[in-house]
Amino acid sequence: MLSRPEELYNFIFHKFFKYLFFLPLWSTMRVCWLVSRDRSCRRIKLPHLEMVMIGRGPETEITDQKCSRRQVQLKADCNKGYVKVKQIGVNPTSVDLVDIGKDQEIKLKPGQVLYVVNKLYPYTVQFLEEMGSCAGKEAAETRGEKRPQNQPENSSVESISGKRAKTEQQDDGSGYKLSDVNNSVSSCETSSSEKERLTHWNQGLKVSMKNPDLQIYKDERAVVIKDKFPKARYHWLVLPWESIPTLSAVTPKHLELLEHMQAVGEKIIQQCSERDRLRFRLGYHAIPSMSHLHLHVISQDFDSECLKTKKHWNSFTTKYFIDSKDVIKMVKKKGGVTVDRNVAQLLKLPLKCHVCNQQQPTIPQLKEHLKEHWPK
Ligand code: AMP
Ligand code: ZN
Repeated sequence: MLSRPEELYNFIFHKFFKYLFFLPLWSTMRVCWLVSRDRSCRRIKLPHLEMVMIGRGPETEITDQKCSRRQVQLKADCNKGYVKVKQIGVNPTSVDLVDIGKDQEIKLKPGQVLYVVNKLYPYTVQFLEEMGSCAGKEAAETRGEKRPQNQPENSSVESISGKRAKTEQQDDGSGYKLSDVNNSVSSCETSSSEKERLTHWNQGLKVSMKNPDLQIYKDERAVVIKDKFPKARYHWLVLPWESIPTLSAVTPKHLELLEHMQAVGEKIIQQCSERDRLRFRLGYHAIPSMSHLHLHVISQDFDSECLKTKKHWNSFTTKYFIDSKDVIKMVKKKGGVTVDRNVAQLLKLPLKCHVCNQQQPTIPQLKEHLKEHWPK
């Protein structure tokens, strides 16, 4: 028991210093992530100065036979803020559409796009600040061990790539298993989801658009994120940085921005590996449910489990969905966007196929019918 004052003092003093000692472990550190720009596969962690091989396999969800399982070798330098990319496979890997060349190396920086093979499967890199101890633990989990401080960089690289190569051999040909790396991330990522929980639901886009993990493209005027509840195979949202609450707040001074948002949407479609097989539409909901102007870029397969209700269906397939081009025309002609007073009634219309106009009695039947129109 701590009966005497000096004992109590010593107890508090030691506790205090013990925690002071651990404090530096909780400082932030920079980590690098490889993020897919057109698909919803998990991001891949690139630990500082460690070689990571990617290609066809479960971590990228690439099944294309033109892509080798060892297509690209990546080595992130979190201090310098770039990733060295080396093409290992035979078919071209490129950065910003410039082919690297077999066994050649190039630097990939944030904002540039890495195409894994044949100008397909775009990825970007993000350097994020994460809690040091957490990120450190993660990195250790990734490696299965911690590199001693004094060990030369290259020896670590060799041992890691050797270890991973072994995993690949044991792995019945399906590629590396990085899922453990990605699963362990969640404990470090509570802050943005925490923010989301604390925000009113209709403000969710404002939170998501600022989250670097969700941004698949950004420039000085707009940002693109994946729709959290996609109603088709590809469903992105283009949002301006400028605070424009809704379509009805748009004025002629926003024309250039609206045109830019559309151009960004079209650029994102161009980077989609299924762009030639699928049809896309770019447009706005007449009465959006979420705050902050957002342009929907959506593939017309409507192949998604998130599409569940008549309201969902009609909001994308009736005049409730206003093409971006028409919005721009309307702003030019009338100085703003006005919608019919009865536009909400469109959401109650019977379910009609958007391709052949055939009416379907229920959503499950409509979804079954839609398969007939999917590209073979
Ligand atoms: P609307 O406001 O009707 O034009 O559509 C809002 C869209 O935002 C819907 O397609 C939702 O699935 C999507 N959404 C809702 N919350 C989020 C979020 N936090 N992050 C990204 N997309 C979201
Ligand atoms: Zn049809």
